Amino acid sequence: MALPRLLARRLRSAQTWIVLGVLAPVGMLVLSGLMLLDLRRDAWDKAEQTSKNLLQVIERDIARNVEIIDLSLQAIVDNLRTPGLDAVSSEMRQLVLFDRAGTARDVGVTLVLDEHGDIAADSGALPPRKGNYADREYFRVHREQAGLGLHVGRPLVSRLTGERMLPFSRRIDKPDGSFGGVALGTLKLSYFSRLFDQLGLGRDGAINLYLRDGTRIMRHPYEEVDVGVSIVGAPTFRRFVAERSGTFVGTSVRDGVERHYAFTQVGDLPLVLNVALATADIEAGWRAKAAVIGTLVLVLCGLTAFLSLLFGRELRRRAAMQAELTHLARTDGLTGLANRRRFEEEFVRARKGAGRTARPLSLLIVDADHFKRWNDRYGHAVGDEVLRGLGRCLSASVRRPGDLAARIGGEEFAVLLPDTDEDGALRVARAIHRAVAALTVASAGLGAGSVTVSIGLAVDAGVGLDMGDLYRRADGALYEAKACGRNRTRCADGVRDGDPSMEAGRLVGARHPPRC
Ligand code: GH3
Ligand code: MG
Ligand code: MG
Repeated sequence: MALPRLLARRLRSAQTWIVLGVLAPVGMLVLSGLMLLDLRRDAWDKAEQTSKNLLQVIERDIARNVEIIDLSLQAIVDNLRTPGLDAVSSEMRQLVLFDRAGTARDVGVTLVLDEHGDIAADSGALPPRKGNYADREYFRVHREQAGLGLHVGRPLVSRLTGERMLPFSRRIDKPDGSFGGVALGTLKLSYFSRLFDQLGLGRDGAINLYLRDGTRIMRHPYEEVDVGVSIVGAPTFRRFVAERSGTFVGTSVRDGVERHYAFTQVGDLPLVLNVALATADIEAGWRAKAAVIGTLVLVLCGLTAFLSLLFGRELRRRAAMQAELTHLARTDGLTGLANRRRFEEEFVRARKGAGRTARPLSLLIVDADHFKRWNDRYGHAVGDEVLRGLGRCLSASVRRPGDLAARIGGEEFAVLLPDTDEDGALRVARAIHRAVAALTVASAGLGAGSVTVSIGLAVDAGVGLDMGDLYRRADGALYEAKACGRNRTRCADGVRDGDPSMEAGRLVGARHPPRC
């Protein structure tokens, strides 16, 4: 079959539309699922990029400020070795020791402590304010260990200003290498909170700065209780320290919120910084989009499936109607037998079959005797009843699947008997006579034997007569049967005993003279 015709046939099939109605929504679902996964990936990529950018900006800012403080401390340590420094005035000494970095907004007190922890020089006051810091952790660390370099201490509250500070310190060595005190610089914690607060991180986002020992220096959003807390045992912190910088998704020990962490060590300092975006915040936009797109796709899929099923059902209904119409167009409405059109179609088919197999094809023309009388005597309705009864008799008399009983018109019927010779056809004719003899029509009070038929029989013994020829021959035999007294069968090529009143004799001409 040519491809376009096959395609057209497939498109008319209800099954095709049902399959399409299922496959199309499945395809749509798969595609939109892939698209949503892609959108989710985009949201995560964007969040990761944002976190990394923020992390870099904050890290650079902190590292630069700490560097400035450290340079000041190094200058103090170096300048203390200036020969004759003890001999100069206290104002001059102040100028030598402290640069202007100490006056920066976020820098706290800068002090020089002697080996006992007392303030030996104070960038903020001359004469220096009084105070002893021997108990401070940074002081003890430097006293006990030389060569530490820059030490970053735990957050503390300044005894001089009452502000929260992060201390940075360097050891001062005496010329003989023994402990000579500490140069102390501080960075106000307000610097960190101001820096972090400038950044928008979503509802549950956070920025944390830790000492490498696990002590939290600052957290955004700021809560006082968070400062100074140690999370050294938390799995997230262990990764911060072990990997130095990177990203991962983990759950916060502080509030149990799942977050995406981007973290890094600040320069070479013992500081760990992280930017943490809540998973829910990262996916919030995507979830809203997914809900809208998902709902729309589901509705469209449902609609497509529904319409396809509807269309498939409509096609099935049309096909059934078509089949019914075809059946009706080939059926006689009164008797339910095949009509003339079907008879002609079947005849052509049967003739072809007979031509192929060289088997005989028989035709019976059956005509009700004096039918007009039933109409005239009992009315048309009774006539119709008789015709229906004759239809039943004919149906009951043909048994083989290839046989066909048809109403040709009025009270005339035809019986087509493929692969049947004269003897077989006569047996069928006898069966018809017997069935008609038993026919009763209760509505008109007609008893058995009231209705009779005459039958003309013609056989094509394989020579391939056309329908007109065979029909004419059978019709001639019918005429003969009528002329010979009705209620009998005559063969076109001879007279046979086929019913109670059959007589011997052969039909010689077409219609005349009848030989009864
Ligand atoms: P014969 O024995 O020579 O065949 O006589 P007949 O009366 O049967 O034949 P005729 O051809 O003279 O009459 C046939 C009648 O059949 C005429 C017509 O009114 C009647 N007829 C044809 N079709 C129908 C039908 O569908 N219903 C009814 N009730 N009568 C029909
Ligand atoms: Mg008749
Ligand atoms: Mg007739």
